[in-house]
Amino acid sequence: MSRFAAVVLAAGAGKRMNSDVPKQFLPLAGKPVIYYSLKAFEQSGVSEIVLVTGKEEADYCRSEIVEKYHFHKISAVVPGGKERYHSVYEGLKAVEDAEYVLIHDGARPFLTQEIIARSMETVQTEKACAAGMPVKDTIKELDEQQYAVRTPERSRLWTVQTPQSFSVSLIREAYEKFFAMQQSGQEVPALTDDAMVVEHVFGRKVRMIEGSYKNIKITTPEDLPVAELFLDLAGNALLH
Ligand code: C5P
Repeated sequence: MSRFAAVVLAAGAGKRMNSDVPKQFLPLAGKPVIYYSLKAFEQSGVSEIVLVTGKEEADYCRSEIVEKYHFHKISAVVPGGKERYHSVYEGLKAVEDAEYVLIHDGARPFLTQEIIARSMETVQTEKACAAGMPVKDTIKELDEQQYAVRTPERSRLWTVQTPQSFSVSLIREAYEKFFAMQQSGQEVPALTDDAMVVEHVFGRKVRMIEGSYKNIKITTPEDLPVAELFLDLAGNALLH
């Protein structure tokens, strides 16, 4: 049986939320946003969970989240870095004993057992897969003057979510090579997800799997009432 780890990201200030409390710790039906995805992983087939937090929040996370909610699978709480991809790398270093890792934004509370299971199944054959959904809107690419210059065919466009899942050795090597390229002054893209590292460093295709339209990332203030509504619709089943 393969072993799976989860790296859950909860570092970063979340400037777009206009709040002193980072978005991943804001209360959602009385519990911090981060609680919900940790709970989903706790109840899943992953055997270890690495929680990546801001330096100042590590103690709070240990006492107010790990201990308070009895998350037994959390094997490490590690400080993150400046950008999301630095935090991912710190989390990857703390994975102890797993062949595969599911990397997840702690700001996405509506992670389901179905999405976790689909990720675990697919990554074993594909080595790299990411959850996402087909876009509903037509997408335009703009130039610097805000004119639309391109309209890619909608049927081939997906938004990408998390979890993004990888063979541990593949993603570690991809990040190491990426940082080496960056340090040697090579031009590298601004990383906005983990699949990009594997694509850029190894030219490797990442398999997309179905996530959910509810698997939203709490990013701006208007996302919170939507999240509360999703929880109500779920009959608060996610709360326990
Ligand atoms: O800021 P963004 O929406 O990209 O954040 C996505 C996830 O990455 C959030 O769960 C956030 O906590 C995490 N993050 C991180 N370290 C950073 C920036 C973001 O762990 N430096």
